[in-house]
Amino acid sequence: MKANSDPLLSIKGLKTSFHTHDGIITAVDGVDFDVFPGETLGLVGESGCGKSVTALSVLRLLNPSMTTIQGQVDFDGKNLLNLDPEEMRMIRGSTISMIFQEPMTSLNPILTVGEQIAESLRLHEKLDKKKAWEKAIHMLEMVQIPSPEIRASQYPHKLSGGMRQRVVIAMALSCNPRLIFADEPTTALDVTIQAQIIRLLEHLKKGSNTSIVLITHDLGVVAQMASRVVVMYAGRVVEEAPVVELFHDARHPYTKGLLKSIPIITRNIKTRLNEIPGIVPNLLHMPKGCSFHPRCSEAMDICKKESPPMIYFKKNRRVACWLTSDDYGEN
Ligand code: SF4
Repeated sequence: MKANSDPLLSIKGLKTSFHTHDGIITAVDGVDFDVFPGETLGLVGESGCGKSVTALSVLRLLNPSMTTIQGQVDFDGKNLLNLDPEEMRMIRGSTISMIFQEPMTSLNPILTVGEQIAESLRLHEKLDKKKAWEKAIHMLEMVQIPSPEIRASQYPHKLSGGMRQRVVIAMALSCNPRLIFADEPTTALDVTIQAQIIRLLEHLKKGSNTSIVLITHDLGVVAQMASRVVVMYAGRVVEEAPVVELFHDARHPYTKGLLKSIPIITRNIKTRLNEIPGIVPNLLHMPKGCSFHPRCSEAMDICKKESPPMIYFKKNRRVACWLTSDDYGEN
């Protein structure tokens, strides 16, 4: 879905399956998308739609003994899925980094936050101990942590949730990555701190050409940060659009449902929020045809029998829904 430059990351036919006692679960099933230099791409869907597994597959952070990953993940002329573990380790945390939802999962409780940032700088940037420490303090300052020299010597448990997330962002940015996967970076934080973290990410991004893949179930966050959106459902891409078009002219009933469930401040407080009925399907027992059909108010007979093809339209949009096919509806 085309921008003027070549993509920085190009994911083609990504398929990730887990080997479980109950059988094989395909959590990501043929996902394709590109990420262009300097853009923020929103990767959207409910929990269990395969967004995080997509990121973990790209970064090769899943246990290989329990997982099969197929497809192609081109980054900088290399298919990341073919790199040996050491090459991949050098890319993670330097060229590509990840911000997780819960900062404590990324922070080591027995190292000070300064040591953790400095350690990454010594490994990836080959800085000596003194320079790495100085840069760690600079990074804490950059993410607007007050008294960075004092905070650098503190352990993660001494910091508030919002401050810990700032430390994780400082770590993610410390080696000037070209791409960051931010997985629900504000979900674990209270609303005021969420707004601060979003403003911080936007501010930091302005000064760099770093691309961000923003993984979230929250379309409000996407509206503020992303320029393009990929919507996933049950392990597949169901819609892609520039953010403004998605908000004004969503085509997939699932996307429309997500948009209707955004709280609007001016809405009468007695009015219930619209919810998408039902739940994400059990990946061991996927419905036949369109996987969204049991929840879709617009489902037709064909939806229960055949998977909809991906329809490309308007130069930079696509949707997988029978309603947008030549044979069954508008285009
Ligand atoms: Fe609904 Fe059919 Fe479109 Fe699936 S293909 S989203 S069931 S209308």
